[in-house]
Amino acid sequence: MALKYVSEYRDSQLAKVLIESIKEKIEALHSSGSIKAKKRLRLMEVCGTHTMSIFRHGIRSVLPHTIELLSGPGCPVCVTAQKDIDAFIELSKQDNVILTTFGDLMKVPGTFSSLQKEKADGRDIRVVYSVFDAVEIAAANQGVTCNCNQANSANKTNQAKEVVFCGVGFETTTPTVAASILMASERGIDNFSIHSAHKLTPPALAALMETPATQIDGFILPGHVSVITGVDGYKDVFDKYKVPSVIAGFEPLDILKAILMLVTQQISGLPALENGYERAVSQFGNVKAVQIMNQVFEPADSVWRGIGHIPESGMRLRDSYKSFDALKKFNLELKDTPEPVGCACGQILMGLKTPEQCMMYGKKCTPAHPVGPCMVSSEGSCAAYYRYKGL
Ligand code: SF4
Repeated sequence: MALKYVSEYRDSQLAKVLIESIKEKIEALHSSGSIKAKKRLRLMEVCGTHTMSIFRHGIRSVLPHTIELLSGPGCPVCVTAQKDIDAFIELSKQDNVILTTFGDLMKVPGTFSSLQKEKADGRDIRVVYSVFDAVEIAAANQGVTCNCNQANSANKTNQAKEVVFCGVGFETTTPTVAASILMASERGIDNFSIHSAHKLTPPALAALMETPATQIDGFILPGHVSVITGVDGYKDVFDKYKVPSVIAGFEPLDILKAILMLVTQQISGLPALENGYERAVSQFGNVKAVQIMNQVFEPADSVWRGIGHIPESGMRLRDSYKSFDALKKFNLELKDTPEPVGCACGQILMGLKTPEQCMMYGKKCTPAHPVGPCMVSSEGSCAAYYRYKGL
């Protein structure tokens, strides 16, 4: 079974070596009695892209059964609070608005609707592949009045439209959104705005550690977020909680290597913050990207789906860029709205449940008819289970 998957890895020989090393070290841990009492070593892959890669490459099946991989709160669409989803839907209903979004958000159910349903009802909702596409849509919809003769001018006047972008994502995405706002500002594109539901990763790790039930023995930290934050981005959280933590890339060999590093830390009894993705992640990260992000945004308290309020875990526009705040522009307020009844997304994002432990998994909730975002997003745990494990 294992070899079927290992042969598909880029360097199957190295994969075998890594898997054997993990097995040997886990056996050593067992014989030393370190994990006997707990039975399993609970390692959390924080990032949804890791979850997908782990499933796609059958990594769970090649690991000793005493290693339990938990999916964490690293799927941006999944952690977006219901009230932010409802706000995006409400923004799409405003007069003269073009709402722009990444595709993952389209099917996420809000309290009464979804962006997909609103689009079917005739709202102008467009999927973009980059926030800069949204800026260009705004530039093309600023409204133009020609200087031609009066009889024809009505035909040659384009009405301005407001273009709103749904700001969802982590440190990987937020600097780009910040850059788009700087670009719109420089070009005088004042019909562009965003609703920011951006999140920061380290406060979520701290929230997990403050929840004793999670019992996390180690973090596989997200490679792409770490490209921006650098190793140092996790330093404060690591110094406080001393949980073994390894930054990992997204190839199966990267993930196996990170798991081996975490198991090795368990054996040594010396928790460390290590970089297993040196080819992309530096100690200090992308300083310029962080600078741009912090120029436009500032940390603010934020609500995460299922997890709740986490201090300083979101990014809001600074006062000097408030004219790009879509809620202010349309005089809308975020309203607390309940999450779908029975949806266990929140517990899944904290590693407290698996999708199969949700009563609706595969029954009332499927990728074709999702109840919660974890079944919608390409990085969602429920979607990963459904696609690769089935019912
Ligand atoms: S299966 Fe559906 S309802 Fe259950 S936790 Fe996942 S997304 Fe929510």
